[in-house]
Amino acid sequence: MAFPVTRLRRLRRSEPLRSMVCETRLTPENFVYPMFVCPGEGVRKEVRSMPGVFNLSVDEAVKEAREAHSVGVPAVILFGLPEAKDEVATGAWATDGIVQQAARAIKKETPDLILMGDVCLCEYMSHGHCGIVRAKAPQSLGAAVAAPPAAATDYEIVNDATLELLARTSVSLIRAGVDIVAPSDMMDGRVGAIRKALDEAGFSNAPILSYAAKFASGFYGPFREAADSAPQFGDRRSYQMDPANVREAMREIELDIEEGADMIMVKPAMPYLDVIAAARERFDLPLAAYQVSGEYAMIEAAARNNWIDRERVMMESLVSIRRAGARIILTYFAKDAAKLLG
Ligand SMILES: [Zn+2]
Repeated sequence: MAFPVTRLRRLRRSEPLRSMVCETRLTPENFVYPMFVCPGEGVRKEVRSMPGVFNLSVDEAVKEAREAHSVGVPAVILFGLPEAKDEVATGAWATDGIVQQAARAIKKETPDLILMGDVCLCEYMSHGHCGIVRAKAPQSLGAAVAAPPAAATDYEIVNDATLELLARTSVSLIRAGVDIVAPSDMMDGRVGAIRKALDEAGFSNAPILSYAAKFASGFYGPFREAADSAPQFGDRRSYQMDPANVREAMREIELDIEEGADMIMVKPAMPYLDVIAAARERFDLPLAAYQVSGEYAMIEAAARNNWIDRERVMMESLVSIRRAGARIILTYFAKDAAKLLG
């Protein structure tokens, strides 16, 4: 039945009609609010490239978490800026690590808030990579003589040794009061290694939200300022995924599920809505998507120039991620969007 019998505009005539046929709804329950915890007291330092996002000392993080919870955001995810960095990411798994401290303090103050702990090593490594770095052995005597190992080119990220640190970090976070661990490193086999370590430590009830399909993205730029985690040499393309690959993303997700992931994530969100939709179609686990720092920064920057309507674009970007199939959205807009949704 075509025009003039069919007129799709009939159901768009008024707000109540539009609302009645609305297919995708956002609620504050969809959101997870990322927070960056740093040493000190009373610290609330705005991230230059992410207006409205702060490095927070533990006391300030407690307040921020309470505020997020009070507007209906059910969960926060914690990232840490340690006092010191080294070659084995001690700050990630230390009992008194910055995220561990924050987790204990927030849990005490806001016990009903779900605490997620990002599990990665880059923020705690002096070189800023997500795993242990080893200089590559020269392939021949000639090569060794001609070119002594230069950090920028002749290194590799050691997969299996890194797993041990990720597992240790996960156990330490759960012990400190984190409810869900979220590995974001993209090493092969990390979910299995973490599951095994948690079970052995008596935490068989602790869920894993796996950053299963995490792409090597330019949209992470502002985060690296926020978390002070930019690699000092090279890039992350030997472990994060090629932005061109959707079938490989399905394989990554499938493997993480086999290894014991309880929830899966696609990151970034808006440039990868097709990946979210494909994952939703194919897998039945709760699906999350991370609206990353660059997505946030672009909207904030354009809004500050009055080039776009901030609230409108914020909500449209979030509803697009939900429509693509993500149930859970990690977003720096969590508090503001939750307030708007009432
Ligand atoms: Zn990392």
